[in-house]
Amino acid sequence: MKSFGDVWQKAKPIISSKINPVAALQWISNIEPVRLENDSAVFSCPSTFEKQIVEARYAKEIESALSSVLGFDVKLEIYVQEESLEQEEETNERVKHLLNPEGPIGLFGNSLGKGNIEKWSLSPEYTFGNFVVGPGNSFAHAAARAVADNPARTWNPLFIYGNSGLGKTHLMCAIGHAIKQKFNWYNVVYVRSEDFTNELIRALQIGAEGKGGTLDFKNKYRKADVLLIDDIQFIGGKTQTQEEFFHTFSALYSAGKQIVMTSDRPPKEISTLEERLLTRFESGLMADVQAPDFETRCAIIRKKAESTAFPIDSDVVEYIAYTLKDNARQLEGAVMKLRAHWLLSSKVINRELAAEVIRDMASDSEPLSQRLDKIVNEVSRFYGVTVDDILGSKRTSKISQARKIAMYVIREATELSYPLIGEKFGGRNHTTVMYSIRDVEAEIKTDYKLKSEINDFLKNLR
Ligand code: ADP
Ligand code: MG
Repeated sequence: MKSFGDVWQKAKPIISSKINPVAALQWISNIEPVRLENDSAVFSCPSTFEKQIVEARYAKEIESALSSVLGFDVKLEIYVQEESLEQEEETNERVKHLLNPEGPIGLFGNSLGKGNIEKWSLSPEYTFGNFVVGPGNSFAHAAARAVADNPARTWNPLFIYGNSGLGKTHLMCAIGHAIKQKFNWYNVVYVRSEDFTNELIRALQIGAEGKGGTLDFKNKYRKADVLLIDDIQFIGGKTQTQEEFFHTFSALYSAGKQIVMTSDRPPKEISTLEERLLTRFESGLMADVQAPDFETRCAIIRKKAESTAFPIDSDVVEYIAYTLKDNARQLEGAVMKLRAHWLLSSKVINRELAAEVIRDMASDSEPLSQRLDKIVNEVSRFYGVTVDDILGSKRTSKISQARKIAMYVIREATELSYPLIGEKFGGRNHTTVMYSIRDVEAEIKTDYKLKSEINDFLKNLR
């Protein structure tokens, strides 16, 4: 694989396996790979018409396929080769018509989007074998191993907590894999807490008997031998989810089933967590994970490079470990980026090139766009709406509320101007942004719960 064109050739079958192949391939064959530029996959296409259709319908699939070939996230960028102004106006009309949700062909781009399947299951590469043990995580690792060797006989529940990117999900999945291997008749259920919530809400709407209704829901979770629930902090403030989770938890626990939870903070700091849940979360073993030290960082980089067949000099390993200190996810991102360079240019990766490639990843200069994405992502997960909804134009009260909060948090965290915030939110007018933010300011004066939720978002950004 030596050029971006080759990457594209590998990505295409992945895309066509995910979407209606005839229509899709026709649109997708209109775009030509140009180059890979940092995180942007740049394509060209003959007219604005194709560009807008491809962007609106297939951007997610294209991005996710390219990302899986390259091993790091890329954003799709399409530019139009040449087009007259007249043509462009005509195109805009056609696209408007085509994308009109009421129109005859409006049913594309389902909001569930990509990764719908992966997020329910254990990532295959998150095993104990691929996990590097160091001073920051040795306790959590030992606890995880003990639980995997003797489910429900050692620590129950096991509660793993710590900042983002430090290997909590990895450890949790490793427990799942090890148990499945040793006790292959065990029913291991992995779920992210926001998916638990969304599934519950859907079940409640469907009622008891229907497919995906509350009976199915209860069956699924109460028949688990091992329940792995990721990012449990997102149940904070959600009364119904807490109620249901309490019953799930109690049923499993008293039946002698293993429960493992992860969280970005200890139970006490989960806002508005019911007392009875707090007590239960704290009743087993709580294990924290901390940032890796220098040696561990080096080992993680080596492991990642090895597992992707990427030869990397110790000089470069040490440089990355020295530069990126905060978490393992960053290290992995850096390795995958360097690997892509190596694949595409067949140049030897030296320290200078490494410095160039990871310059914008250094801990003190997280790019603004990344910060914004992170905020929108967190807020959407918390409120159980999709990112597309928050950035889009739907106006149900739940979505509008989440959107206002996201704007407020962005303003507080970045001091970005109203017009720029508006731009991020699908080109909204700056006065709309201003009123939304004022709304939230007024609300938090009287709504203590909202205030603490927002404080949590802000705290997590640091
Ligand atoms: P968290 O759930 O704590 O946010 P993840 O488990 O998603 O973090 O880890 C982020 C990435 O870093 C994953 O790709 C994971 O494999 C990798 N990682 C984290 N810690 C380690 C470790 N100790 N050894 C190897 N890889 C790690
Ligand atoms: Mg995680």
